[in-house]
Amino acid sequence: MDAESRIGRFARVRTSIIECCEAELETIECRRCGPEKPTLAKPPFRNDLGKRIQERICTACWADWLQHQTLLINHYGLDPREAKAREFLYGQIETVLLGGGKGKEVDTSQKGEIEW
Ligand SMILES: [Zn+2]
Repeated sequence: MDAESRIGRFARVRTSIIECCEAELETIECRRCGPEKPTLAKPPFRNDLGKRIQERICTACWADWLQHQTLLINHYGLDPREAKAREFLYGQIETVLLGGGKGKEVDTSQKGEIEW
């Protein structure tokens, strides 16, 4: 299965979990969109970054991020199975999602010419 369909499937699974269990989920103050937002049922990654995402990013913002990440993966031709690609995506999460900074632009005119 390629990265895109794997992430797409993950997003769909999440959506159905959100729909059926929303009332039972704990809430957090989401760094991106505000207080009283449903938290992810579990960290998206088994590392410190995953824990911080769960503590600071709500389910809706995480779903948005997954869509953005799919664009990045396609744009940069990333293979999430490669450590280097994961490092890049984790860096983007730190900067854009947790840090509030500006991410890499997805400029389709430069496809294949981006250094990272
Ligand atoms: Zn949010």
